[in-house]
Amino acid sequence: MAHQPKNTPNKTNKNPLLVLIIFVIAAVLLARFTGSEGGILDKLGGGVSKNIDYYELKQLIKNNQVSSVSIGQTIIKAQGISNGQKVYYTAKKVQDTSLVPLLDEKNINYSGFSESNFFTEMLSWILPILVFFGIWIFISSRMQKSMGGGIFGIGSSKKLVNAEKPKVKFDDMAGNAEAKEEVVEIVDFLKYPDRYASVGAKIPKGVLLVGPPGTGKTLLAKAVAGEANVPFFSMSGSSFIEMFVGLGASRVRDLFEMAKKDAPSIIFIDEIDAIGKSRAAGGMISGNDEREQTLNQLLAEMDGFGSENAPVIVLAATNRPEVLDPALLRPGRFDRQVLVDKPDFNGRVEILKVHIKSVKLARDVDLQEIAKLTAGLAGADLANIINEAALLAGRANQKEVSQKHFKEAVERSIAGLEKKSRRISPKEKKIVAYHESGHAVISELTPGSDRVNKVSIIPRGMAALGYTLNTPEENKYLIQKHELIAKVDVLLGGRAAEEVFLGEISTGASNDLERATDIIKSMVSYYGMSEVSGLMVLEKPRNAFLGGGLGSNREFSEKIAESMDEYIKKTLDSRYQAVKQTLSDYKDAIEKMVSELLEQEVIDGMRVREILGEYEKQQGMKSRLVEREEI
Ligand code: ADP
Ligand code: ZN
Repeated sequence: MAHQPKNTPNKTNKNPLLVLIIFVIAAVLLARFTGSEGGILDKLGGGVSKNIDYYELKQLIKNNQVSSVSIGQTIIKAQGISNGQKVYYTAKKVQDTSLVPLLDEKNINYSGFSESNFFTEMLSWILPILVFFGIWIFISSRMQKSMGGGIFGIGSSKKLVNAEKPKVKFDDMAGNAEAKEEVVEIVDFLKYPDRYASVGAKIPKGVLLVGPPGTGKTLLAKAVAGEANVPFFSMSGSSFIEMFVGLGASRVRDLFEMAKKDAPSIIFIDEIDAIGKSRAAGGMISGNDEREQTLNQLLAEMDGFGSENAPVIVLAATNRPEVLDPALLRPGRFDRQVLVDKPDFNGRVEILKVHIKSVKLARDVDLQEIAKLTAGLAGADLANIINEAALLAGRANQKEVSQKHFKEAVERSIAGLEKKSRRISPKEKKIVAYHESGHAVISELTPGSDRVNKVSIIPRGMAALGYTLNTPEENKYLIQKHELIAKVDVLLGGRAAEEVFLGEISTGASNDLERATDIIKSMVSYYGMSEVSGLMVLEKPRNAFLGGGLGSNREFSEKIAESMDEYIKKTLDSRYQAVKQTLSDYKDAIEKMVSELLEQEVIDGMRVREILGEYEKQQGMKSRLVEREEI
């Protein structure tokens, strides 16, 4: 019974640290699976427990399928309802600071809990040291020749940077044709940098993807990398700032260094508003030094790099472009903006088609109907609905997903979203349709206003419920008085339409009214266009760099102030009456527009002009449609 040691112990003797490391890792794993996860307690309440991946958990949170979260040192526990059943999720924690902001955004309760027993706490101290030595030993045993520095200089940010080579292609993103068109060029820059370099063309460095959450900004950025077959380095804006104080700037540096090493490549910064918030915003002097340093580093990096043969292009995403520091948007930085909007009806059908590929469909499935039911939802919501429908079918033990599963999934998802007021009700939709038609019609009938490009009742961004997109004439430096008045009329058109057609007004016009008031105010106090103060300028504009607007240093008498207020009110009132009259004159045309809008959600400017023209002809009216040069 001699137990002469064989090879293995011998080997390990050489490297006692390695054994220790393996032991420690095993111990940690053991602790994790047997430890204080509260599985038993959770189960007492009924429901199922699931171990999932951190990113799956995040997706669940994004999809509003989680109701509360507790965060430990190494694991995250979450509770949610899936298919009417309580589910307890456990996920291994990942270093990622976008979680807490996400929870805040979703309004989900979260709390910390302590997993610590003495053992794991000890490990959390010892483990990094051991791992470090492990790596060191590993490397030094491999490369005996050079022991030079290097190893010690590695920043801690590499783990936070996500590096990959995406397989995603443009075809994986449906709808949003305009956004795709804007970025195809970038693929070309990345694929054939020499072509551009040889003619001396400067390749753009930064592109800002603007749009509400879940509309596919990340997807689009990945698709650019996928199409160009270049590496993709991504990081979330909030993770630059919040992990450790003082590291934001060095993280930015590391990120760019990695990307440059692998150029041509793409850097993607999600939630760039977390670092790029305007320094002037809120009128505070630098609320956050850390952020400012990080932002400065980002600006410096963007100005610094730019090898024409091996470009690095930075894509950044935000849903709040208006809060970004103007310095970020200067030429040579993020000087291009691409709107990634919520899909219209056809877009939704396309997105459903993309995501339905992996699902077995029953014959009765009607994607058009599903698209109709999901007005206002983003691509991520649609992807979620399809998955939910498949889960429902699976639960009912069906081989195929049928229309009733989809409908139920839609209802569930909408019920979740309605709480977060991301979907508009049919009643609101109607108000928005009249409101936007009012803007559009006044735009088309008022000389000096801009041509209507499209009218939409799909909510866009956080603030607007619908929108009317105008095409401004290009290169306009001077605005004539009648053009300013025309702007006021167009702004009032929304509110006026609500009054004329619905008999009741809503809060939806507040921003319009604010802007209309501002225009008249500046006509009086800055442009010298009223009898109130004649040519006398009453206010000086604030530093344009800080966002423009009129300053508050009043240099005029109380009496003038009073007559200015009076003038503004009087002008607004009389313009409002005129606008209401115009809308009443075109009543049936507007009713027609509204019914088309409710049906299709978006109509383009051509159609607006067509409806108005037909109506005028039919009524034997003299046309008031403004003639404009075709662009
Ligand atoms: P964002 O970055 O704008 O918040 P994401 O790119 O993270 O949105 O989108 C989340 C998911 O939603 C995507 O991975 C994809 O599955 C789905 N999705 C969103 N928009 C689209 C789209 N236009 N076409 C197909 N899938 C989409
Ligand atoms: Zn409006």
